[in-house]
Amino acid sequence: MLDVCLLGTAGMMPLPYRWLTACMTRYNGSHLLIDCGEGTQIAIKEKGWSFHPIDVICFTHYHADHISGLPGLLLTMGNAERTEPVLLIGPPGLKKVVESLRIIAPDLPFEIEYKELKEKEETITVKGYQIHAFKVNHNISCYGYTVEILRGGKFDVERAKGQNIPIKCWNRLQKGETVTEDGITYTPDMVLGTARKGLKVTYCTDTRPTKTIVEAAKGSDLAILEGMYAEPEKIAKAKQYKHMTFYEAAKIAKEAEVSKLWLTHFSPSLVGAESYMEKVREIFAQTSLGKDGMSVDLQFEE
Ligand SMILES: [Zn+2]
Ligand SMILES: [Zn+2]
Repeated sequence: MLDVCLLGTAGMMPLPYRWLTACMTRYNGSHLLIDCGEGTQIAIKEKGWSFHPIDVICFTHYHADHISGLPGLLLTMGNAERTEPVLLIGPPGLKKVVESLRIIAPDLPFEIEYKELKEKEETITVKGYQIHAFKVNHNISCYGYTVEILRGGKFDVERAKGQNIPIKCWNRLQKGETVTEDGITYTPDMVLGTARKGLKVTYCTDTRPTKTIVEAAKGSDLAILEGMYAEPEKIAKAKQYKHMTFYEAAKIAKEAEVSKLWLTHFSPSLVGAESYMEKVREIFAQTSLGKDGMSVDLQFEE
């Protein structure tokens, strides 16, 4: 249904066996990527997911560890014979940053469309994804994202029959479209029940904890949050460079009542991460250490 992969888990710099933090989703034949640091295309290749269907790329911010892999990725998508436009979403300056990077990747067989975020929170609907961008607190302009698949109400066959709605209209009504047939207009609310729970993933890295993150992540099936530092004494560093510790991420997951938390964006200095997890799970039990390439296929509830 909604396939989510944490492509890499490193912050600042890629390491052997640890690519830079990025997340990719697959839904209904469309891929969405969040962040694209150096080597992200290798992580995608290792996972075995395709380049051609990448329709949307979101950027949290323009530190190199989140965007410097873009020119190479775009070239690879071109080599995969992509011709459909690609939508890029990111904080102010998006077009300038990307066009500068594209000096080394000028010829692409597809258009690039830009959506520069201006507001503190913005919602963009594309290819069946509802993307919610929300401003966070890093040392440059930075956004977190939720990616949602909304789910309409159940189709009520008896109601459709009772109102003599032609069967050929049912499929489109089920998809939420309004249909006119023989001069009569039928609307989805005539046959659909109340909206059901969809799927929701939150991705947020390079920030201090904020109330907005908790609100945006509310009820997520999966939250992928930054855990730059595990050592409790590194809280001072976290505050100085505007990052989060394992414990702060776990507290957000708890307050947002998410189903599970994957930690990511680990400091290159981090060793023995597992030894800190007992304390982290005291705050939020469903916490896992992110691993490169880990993925989950989220399904609608019955
Ligand atoms: Zn970073
Ligand atoms: Zn950063």
